[in-house]
Amino acid sequence: MGPGPSNPYPEVTAALAGPLLGHLDPAFLAVLDETMDRLRTVFGTRNPLTLPVSGTGSAGMEAAFVNLVHPGDVVVVGVNGLFGQRMVEVARRHGADVVEVLAPWGKPLDPGSLLAAHPDPAILAVVHAETSTGVRNEIAPLGAGKGGALLLVDCVTSLGGIEVAVDDWGVDVAYSGTQKCLGVPPGLAPLTVSPRAGGRLVERPSSWYLDLQLLSQYVTAGRGGGRVYHHTAPVAMVAALHAGLGALLDEGLSASWERHAECGALLQDGLRKMGLELFAADGHRLPQLTTVTVPDELPAGLDEAGVRRLLLERYGIEIGGGAGELAGRVWRIGCMGHTARRRNVLALLGALAEVLGR
Ligand code: PLP
Repeated sequence: MGPGPSNPYPEVTAALAGPLLGHLDPAFLAVLDETMDRLRTVFGTRNPLTLPVSGTGSAGMEAAFVNLVHPGDVVVVGVNGLFGQRMVEVARRHGADVVEVLAPWGKPLDPGSLLAAHPDPAILAVVHAETSTGVRNEIAPLGAGKGGALLLVDCVTSLGGIEVAVDDWGVDVAYSGTQKCLGVPPGLAPLTVSPRAGGRLVERPSSWYLDLQLLSQYVTAGRGGGRVYHHTAPVAMVAALHAGLGALLDEGLSASWERHAECGALLQDGLRKMGLELFAADGHRLPQLTTVTVPDELPAGLDEAGVRRLLLERYGIEIGGGAGELAGRVWRIGCMGHTARRRNVLALLGALAEVLGR
């Protein structure tokens, strides 16, 4: 959700407009190093192997699986939405024997079922914040009960918007995207890997580009000249992420979580008062991504896509349609990063009430 064209944090815009540094310029390498430090803070981890992968959130997912799935490994995947389904597809392509644990879309995964799905899986994989349904899945009980498995978590929509505590929760691999609660344009996938997972990396993964052993040499601070060229870093994107993380940490992580929680509550309350039905299960609703069931009765001449079109054309507010099996059935209202502001929520509620005549 946002008024008209995307308007990132001013710090991010300034970084994008700044002079471009060469990818081997010591000044850029200092920015890269500080970006990795900031990512450790935001992920809640001390993992040395924490870096922005060049590519969108899906590249983070791909990097996680291609580096950790050995042929025939059992991988238990929780599926209660589109991105859990994507994890299954990616894990299978890398040779995993996937055990799916399902929950209805709109409901959270049951940690007990995930832990009981197989006696000795190599990996347990879950999406923390399911963007297709607006549901938050519990991570801490999985870390506590994972045994010998590695816990792999998709934090694309959660990082910066709700608590993520990689070390405290026993998460071994987590990846994210820049364009959600970090409030940075799309293009990088922050990734963190625990020393435990680092000891189980595939020797020569089928992707050269995403090979973490090569990538770790490329991001290693070159105090002793140890940094090895791997690919040309997307310097402008790294600068933007550096600035976005700086803005987030200046605000404070807990303050950001609180701002998202407040805006989500205001939005969800307002939608209920308008007589609309929230789709995600109570107690597991994400503040940063709200799903609303499309009402049976819409104003004459309007279908669900028409409502979204009017919001965009008349009010400059973009909301999403349903994805996957929820296509046409829900609206998805993102309220994340720089857009999580009371003024945006109130503008959306007013506009939606006018369009729906409620
Ligand atoms: N995982 C989740 C939970 C997502 O919401 C998304 C994108 O919306 C992705 C993965 C894929 O990220 P990207 O579209 O940046 O590749």
